[in-house]
Amino acid sequence: MGKTFGTAPKGVNVGKQRILYIPHDHLNRAFGVLKDADPELDTVVFVESQRMVTGRQWHKERLFFLLSSARHFARELQEAGFTTHYIQAPTTLDGLAQARNLVGDLPIHCAEPSSHRQFAQLKEAGLVFHQNDFFLTPRPLFMQWAEKQKSYVMENFYRAQRVRLNILMQGADPVGGRWNFDADNRLPPPKNYTWPAYLDHERDAIDQKVAEQLGFQPTNTWATTREGALRQLEFFVSTHLSGFGPYEDAITKENWALHHSLLSPYLNNGLLHAEEVVAAAVSAFETQGAPIGSVEAFVRQIIGWREYINGMYWFLGEDYRKENQLGATRKLLPLFRDSSKTKMNCVKSVVQDVEQRSWTHHIPRLMVLSNLALTTGVNPQEFLDWMREQFIDATDWVMVP
Ligand SMILES: Cc1cc2nc3c(=O)[nH]c(=O)nc-3n(C[C@H](O)[C@H](O)[C@H](O)COP(=O)(O)OP(=O)(O)OC[C@H]3O[C@@H](n4cnc5c(N)ncnc54)[C@H](O)[C@@H]3O)c2cc1C
Repeated sequence: MGKTFGTAPKGVNVGKQRILYIPHDHLNRAFGVLKDADPELDTVVFVESQRMVTGRQWHKERLFFLLSSARHFARELQEAGFTTHYIQAPTTLDGLAQARNLVGDLPIHCAEPSSHRQFAQLKEAGLVFHQNDFFLTPRPLFMQWAEKQKSYVMENFYRAQRVRLNILMQGADPVGGRWNFDADNRLPPPKNYTWPAYLDHERDAIDQKVAEQLGFQPTNTWATTREGALRQLEFFVSTHLSGFGPYEDAITKENWALHHSLLSPYLNNGLLHAEEVVAAAVSAFETQGAPIGSVEAFVRQIIGWREYINGMYWFLGEDYRKENQLGATRKLLPLFRDSSKTKMNCVKSVVQDVEQRSWTHHIPRLMVLSNLALTTGVNPQEFLDWMREQFIDATDWVMVP
């Protein structure tokens, strides 16, 4: 049986017309189904399903981040006057059934979910969907672009995004005279360089409760509130953005994050929106002298890669996840789950980073972990499942394409 907390006093559901279901990756008052929500007419429901917590070998740092962020957000909505139910139930559908028992047989509204699987499940349950606006590119718009392409080149999509969204443009031309400054970037890690520190995020009572539930002591790496996520954004822009471009493709054992932003968890669970992240970077270029080579490189990751990958996930369809063109059948190598199982220093230190913080940056993911899985013939679905369980920002829409 499920447990409900954060429940408002008896009687507050009177006069309500809709139940708004907020998945754990739609945590934003200004987007999704909450955008036009009315505390007088809407009751907000979160479901923490047992399957989500215990269904796989989840990294506890990841679970901690997702659960604590959702619980903080539920409390914020309550403080803003919403009747909010945070329901713990065996499955999402059980939780939604419990919500109807609590609130009444009202229509359940939700922004379009982020995965094929959840979308199909909630469609079958009869939910009413609102357009998913957690990205800058509506899904139908990406389909229109993709259907016109002979080959799906990200750089072409990115340039079209720059024009469509009018980002770093001077009339019809790119600011700085070039679309892409990669030729100036991609430097090796510098020698005798002092890497700036990263932010620590202090833990509060909600964090501690979630940590106790999970029997786990989280690091202070990840914020679990919008306020903390905004602090991370400001810190990145003021401290790391200028160095982002030159060292974006470097790996060094001296620093685990280099000048990467550490923003993917918040972009993916909704605490931050791509629009404000890009605006902050562009503003640093326009008003604080941040170099175009770094700002363009960072903007490209968000309006280019992030949007393109999400678009391709929906374009390629549900069955793409099952592809295995090379017929790779090897089981996941033990070293992915236990860094002590390898003597390869580079692999060991990357897996240790993942064990410690549930994160490593793009190049170790691509060049070390993915390459190792590819060259040793690890079954792609096994590798995909491992990444989904272990990474703080993991979601099918990024990893499957
Ligand atoms: C095998 C593999 C698996 C990955 N799995 C995920 C995942 O599950 N979730 C995820 O968010 N990213 C994933 N990425 C993309 C990328 O590695 C992470 O987004 C990035 O490392 C997150 O750290 P950051 O926020 O410091 O990124 P930064 O380097 O600071 O980049 C800024 C932002 O750009 C976006 N971004 C950068 N590269 C990509 C990319 N290739 N695709 C999509 N968005 C990108 C992210 O939102 C990121 O926060 C994966 C990459 C590889 C090679």
